[in-house]
Amino acid sequence: MSLYAQATRHARRMLGVLVLAAGLVLVTDRFYGHSSLAFAAAIVMLLVANAPMLRFNCPRCGKNAFFRGPFVVPWPNRTCSRCGHDLGSPTPKNADG
Ligand SMILES: [Zn+2]
Repeated sequence: MSLYAQATRHARRMLGVLVLAAGLVLVTDRFYGHSSLAFAAAIVMLLVANAPMLRFNCPRCGKNAFFRGPFVVPWPNRTCSRCGHDLGSPTPKNADG
């Protein structure tokens, strides 16, 4: 599976977690009133779920697929934003040193 395919799968999973986290905050808000604790829990949930994002690096130059220049974006690049490597091509086994 290509790096891009793995990264998009992660992005979709993050979308699900985001909906879940927003739902948690909304439901808590509705039944218990405004809670910064629920908000904090949602943030922690998102941070933990997003940790694998750091693994999606360009095999050639190491640039993360979720970065466009210095900015983090919610959807991965198909081509590396630094060296232009095609991240959509399948990664050969034992290719990463
Ligand atoms: Zn690159």
